[in-house]
Amino acid sequence: MIIPKPARLTPDQLAEITAIVEPFGCRIQPIIGAVRSIYAIVGDERDELMINRIEGLPFIERVDKMQSAYKLMDRRSSLAANKIKVGDVTLGEDLLVIAGQCTIDPKNPSYFYETAHAVKEAGANSIRGGVWKPRTNPYSFQGDAKSLDILMEAHRRTGLPVDAEVMDEHQLKLALDAGVHMLQIGARNALNYSLLRAIGAAIANRPSTVVLLKRAIHMGPISEFISAAEYIAAYGNPNILLCPRGTTPGLDGYRNHPDESITPLLKEKTWAPVVVDPSHSVGRAVYVPACALAAVAYGADGLCIEAHVSPSKGIGDDPKQALTPEVLAYTITQARHLWATRREARAHAPACLAAAK
Ligand code: PEP
Ligand code: MN
Repeated sequence: MIIPKPARLTPDQLAEITAIVEPFGCRIQPIIGAVRSIYAIVGDERDELMINRIEGLPFIERVDKMQSAYKLMDRRSSLAANKIKVGDVTLGEDLLVIAGQCTIDPKNPSYFYETAHAVKEAGANSIRGGVWKPRTNPYSFQGDAKSLDILMEAHRRTGLPVDAEVMDEHQLKLALDAGVHMLQIGARNALNYSLLRAIGAAIANRPSTVVLLKRAIHMGPISEFISAAEYIAAYGNPNILLCPRGTTPGLDGYRNHPDESITPLLKEKTWAPVVVDPSHSVGRAVYVPACALAAVAYGADGLCIEAHVSPSKGIGDDPKQALTPEVLAYTITQARHLWATRREARAHAPACLAAAK
């Protein structure tokens, strides 16, 4: 249940609603937007008596009683008007491109600085850099907190917002304290509900912080993916980008099973922007441009691409997956052309395609 309000509720009004919902085991979660605010009743909010009491309050104009497993992320939610910004890009108004190294090499920071400048030059709007890494092999390089300084230095040098994955609450705190703009929840933690709750709570009062939520590593239903985002939004910050990145088992020859094709399905069900990661999906630099363009053709709002100024000198996934700046620039140019063509086509699409266009 959602209470949409053009103006904010006062603390007294909030207290009045809290007194109504608490006996029913629910709480009220304000989600304050630039234009309108919404107030979600979180918990099992179906009790008619509770709804009637809220509707009876003189300052309540309307209560949305939409039933959905993910009522905040649902396309029908009042949050659908939410605009998410990453640096200069408003999602939905321009194609967002996040690019950079899979892994920052703390012993060779100059590669990261060069990569950061190169991806900016190639047209990226945000820089990614792995500080802590989820590695299948426990003996592989696991990342290093020192790389956080390198990441933030790259932000200072380029002026672009930066993205890094966090895998636990300690890393989350360090990343937020350092000022990381976009926090990535990776495919291995995408269904780690305690971490999703923790990140939701940690960014509740940081309306400019964004979460890039990858799709879980195994091919789960679309609703599972959106419900994971709902965990984060339920604490008050709806700046969540959904990131399909391929699922297992992989398609023969590719690292994973590419899943950019779920973009229209996601768009039919949720208002959240879709930012596809073609790099982990196909897992080889040579296939990444085609996968990136396919994602845009499917309606993606953004791309997250691994790139390195000198891939063979990189660590983590970079030697296999990272695009060179030249190929990245080509891919971004093609992707932006395609995005503009799609946007134009969308404006003339038959009404029956509304949900998936
Ligand atoms: C990454 O972004 O480098 C990464 C490990 O991503 P994923 O969680 O999609 O495997
Ligand atoms: Mn990677």
